[in-house]
Amino acid sequence: MAGAGAGGISEAVLDAVDRRLLDLLQRDFPLNARPFAAIGERLGLPEEEVLTRVRRLKSAEKGRLIRQISAIFDTAALGYKSTLLAMQVPDDEVDRAAAAINRHPGVSHNYQRDHAWNLWFTLAVPPDEDLETTVEALVGEAGGYPYHLFPALRVFKIGVQLDMEGGDDISPADDAQPSHPTPALTPSARDRAFIRELQEDIEVVPQPFARVSERLGVNQEEVLAWLHEAKAAGWLRRFAAVLRQRQAGYVANGMAVWRVPEDSVEKAAAVAASLPQVSHCYQRPTYPDWPYNLFTLIHAKSKKDCQAIAAKIAQAAGVSDYAILFSTKEYKKERLKYFVSAQEVMTSKSHSLYAEAQRYMPGGVNSPVRAFNAVGGEPLFIARGEGPYIYDVDGRRYIDYVLSWGPLILGHAHPQVVSALKEAVERGISYGAPTALETDLAKRVVEAVPSVEMVRFVNSGTEATMSALRLARAYTGRSKIIKFEGCYHGHADFLLVRAGSGVTTLGLPDSAGVPEGIAQDTLVAPYNDLQAVDRLFSENRAQIAAVIVEPVAGNMGVIPPEPGFLAGLLAVTKAEGALLVFDEVVTGFRVAYGGAQALYGVTPDLTCLGKVIGGGLPVGAYGGRSEIMAMVAPLGPVYQAGTLSGNPLCMTAGIETLKVLAQPGTYERLDERSARLADGLRAAAEAAGVPVFQTRVGSLFCTFFSAEPVVDYASAKRSDTNRYARFFRAMLANGVYLAPSQFEAGFLSLAHSEHDIDRTTEAAEGAFAGR
Ligand code: PLP
Repeated sequence: MAGAGAGGISEAVLDAVDRRLLDLLQRDFPLNARPFAAIGERLGLPEEEVLTRVRRLKSAEKGRLIRQISAIFDTAALGYKSTLLAMQVPDDEVDRAAAAINRHPGVSHNYQRDHAWNLWFTLAVPPDEDLETTVEALVGEAGGYPYHLFPALRVFKIGVQLDMEGGDDISPADDAQPSHPTPALTPSARDRAFIRELQEDIEVVPQPFARVSERLGVNQEEVLAWLHEAKAAGWLRRFAAVLRQRQAGYVANGMAVWRVPEDSVEKAAAVAASLPQVSHCYQRPTYPDWPYNLFTLIHAKSKKDCQAIAAKIAQAAGVSDYAILFSTKEYKKERLKYFVSAQEVMTSKSHSLYAEAQRYMPGGVNSPVRAFNAVGGEPLFIARGEGPYIYDVDGRRYIDYVLSWGPLILGHAHPQVVSALKEAVERGISYGAPTALETDLAKRVVEAVPSVEMVRFVNSGTEATMSALRLARAYTGRSKIIKFEGCYHGHADFLLVRAGSGVTTLGLPDSAGVPEGIAQDTLVAPYNDLQAVDRLFSENRAQIAAVIVEPVAGNMGVIPPEPGFLAGLLAVTKAEGALLVFDEVVTGFRVAYGGAQALYGVTPDLTCLGKVIGGGLPVGAYGGRSEIMAMVAPLGPVYQAGTLSGNPLCMTAGIETLKVLAQPGTYERLDERSARLADGLRAAAEAAGVPVFQTRVGSLFCTFFSAEPVVDYASAKRSDTNRYARFFRAMLANGVYLAPSQFEAGFLSLAHSEHDIDRTTEAAEGAFAGR
């Protein structure tokens, strides 16, 4: 959708009703008990349809066009002091300075611009904080470079909304707020609590304000009355939807600054403000080295368009001295959150480590989901793990249900694993030559996993699936493969493929940088849909090398296979001369010692493993019948190698982990504890009246925020991810570390005690109820 203008978004994406709806949502969200019904009346639609459309406009399907629907407060009227600032920073220091500045929660926008004054950011501080003192501290932390303050002296325009019905559009507010000298009223502690809640995205349910009132512990009428009073006090600018600017196609952001004689400022401002592409227009101070006094923000689809708009203003206003500063880097762009504890955020060690990490690594992380993008907030930096707990660098303890994304089935730092590793390290870290440890682990895998007669160790799950499918293609002499929508098999190019919404589709790359040609041999079917698989086979006779499947889907939440699904896959692959590949990277030694194939009694041709068999160190493996594995080099023609494959540390951690797991009663214990947890979570949701669909296979579990059964990717995607995000944050605040996404699996370890589980379900009671 990026690149298409709001007005230019195709009819197929936004129909006329969507456009009218967006228009209304941005202008005039009804402040009453049934706002979506009221909107429906105005549009001639039933409430249910309005809700469905709004949910879709917030979903990936529509490019998440609506960012949020919430109260939009007036910074100055709340007593916040704010200003725009510019700094002159040496080019090679800009990233560092920006990171230091971004640490302050009152910095909502921070851009690098192509000018000697190259770093521009907004700062707002609450009524009880002094602006000048904060500025000095912030500038000092950023490197002490020259700076200017540009408070708004006069406000001529603050951006309002995207006009979805018109052709030429404007963008939402995106720059400093005006600074009023004195606010009319200072919010009380009660007001601050209301503001904290109401600035968050409302739920798209028939009575959203009832949900807010539950969290505030008041009744709905009080919330609605407060909103009306806040409007009268000037605190509340409006209650409305905010759209994502980039999604609407406004990729060029130019700050045009004008040198206007004092007596012509009003006239020039009126000309600029009359243009829809100008979202903001302010008068700001000048300095000896900064002559421009009128500031306008121009949003357009390209730099050239921005320049043309500026030229138009110059001509109409008769102002010839101006400059356009384009943003060359966006360091921060978010809505200012009012009355959150700045102190807490600013002083946390996690926060400053995260800021530093972002300077050196994309997004500050080495695997995307760790960045908490799906749930908001910032990732915690972890100092250590012990048993079922992790401790962050600020000394807080969490019950951990992520467990390094599955490998730590014994819990953190299991003594047997740790002591074996210490001894192994002493003997040297890696030799690049065979060791007895490899055979030891291979033997354990072969004895446990029904389909595996021979195994090859690699370094990750990604390598395992990629290599297994290379082998399947070589063995069958065919090139196509079938995967399932929502199943993840690592990030090999040809596996980064999503399905369209049809029953079956040809693969389309799911990541930039994957050529379509590479993805076109990847066919996609919905999970749990045997008929779709049959159809793909009949449409691609004698061309399909393999079907790869997660026997329990673990990357769209946790979705068990329906009875007969796995056996059906085995039957059709056999009949068609293709291989069946189970990706047991998650399920291997997790749902049963022999993996999902032992649990469900279906033996595939090839199996991929990872996670648990490395006990927390990086390992993958693929294996199968000897006759197939004999094709792998050096025995056969399928090349596959690895510098550190089978290294003694990974093998040691894997062997010790499997030794513990092989003890009698292990999986029964995991199953009992997991059942206690899943039942507890379900009961807590029920008690709070929150519809959830709870799934579990052994110690893999997921709480879908969905009223309907989740059986495949399409139904998983209908879950309320906002609600999950809130639940996640509430659980985190209560010392429970869940996966930072609705679509990741939960994992339990042998180290989790009944007490830990009961603490978790107690926390969930509060989190579901929104307390
Ligand atoms: N297969 C499945 C089912 C997975 O869940 C994952 C990772 O989560 C992979 C493969 C890729 O494994 P890795 O991240 O070790 O490359």
